[in-house]
Amino acid sequence: MDVIERVLISKEELDRQVEELGSRISKDYEGKELVIIGVLKGGFIFLADLARKITIPVDLDFISVSSYGDSSKSSGVVKIIKDVDTNISGKHVLIVEDIIDTGLTLNHLVELLKTRGPLSVKICAALDKPSRRKAEVHVEYKGIEIPDEFVIGYGLDYAGKYRNLPEVCILKKDVYSKK
Ligand code: 5GP
Ligand code: MG
Ligand code: MG
Repeated sequence: MDVIERVLISKEELDRQVEELGSRISKDYEGKELVIIGVLKGGFIFLADLARKITIPVDLDFISVSSYGDSSKSSGVVKIIKDVDTNISGKHVLIVEDIIDTGLTLNHLVELLKTRGPLSVKICAALDKPSRRKAEVHVEYKGIEIPDEFVIGYGLDYAGKYRNLPEVCILKKDVYSKK
């Protein structure tokens, strides 16, 4: 696709990372009641891969959130578009996200879920852009660190598209400067 500057993370590298995270999660939550909450839409491909590398029984659910205000900037105030159907009280929760950028979205989501009486709330993210952090979030299961570039693919979109790219790619700068 002609909006791609270059591939940043290959399918093989993603697979390796997902496998490692899946086995850590399986070990850590062995014998525990775990509810995995995928954050839509970006987290859906990562979660689909990750779930199949988890070898213990888990509940799966989804939440869809959007931050108020300018869609290109995270305000940290999260609006729930679609909530989970699962009662998480007395259970362990693992939030699965595509990427942590400023950390504002996840910070807010963790606080929100904690009000519902779970035993624990932890985070798993496929990608991490630590240079952009504004809110402190502890990411127990962290995938691949990336530089401060806008990426697409593997669930991540630009203007709603390109989530279906199998690799994580850097979007050409002139795509958004033309806008
Ligand atoms: P945060 O609140 O951590 O700044 O926002 C995280 C959300 O912003 C991610 O879940 C993702 O939807 C979006 N985001 C952050 N960085 C990127 C990026 O490089 N590419 C895309 N497509 N979305 C991003
Ligand atoms: Mg997201
Ligand atoms: Mg997006």
